[in-house]
Amino acid sequence: MLTCIWCGRIITPREKAVKFPCPTCGEFTIWRCEKCRLFGRPYKCPKCGFTGP
Ligand SMILES: [Zn+2]
Ligand SMILES: [Zn+2]
Repeated sequence: MLTCIWCGRIITPREKAVKFPCPTCGEFTIWRCEKCRLFGRPYKCPKCGFTGP
């Protein structure tokens, strides 16, 4: 199950969530839900601890 990295909400395939690999380690795929993307909430990679906008 995919959950938003910021708010932990379950991401449905219908919403415009974004996913991208962690820019630092590339090992973790970061998912952000539509709302968090809209508000520009930061994310944190659980693997390497990288935080970004
Ligand atoms: Zn990382
Ligand atoms: Zn979210």
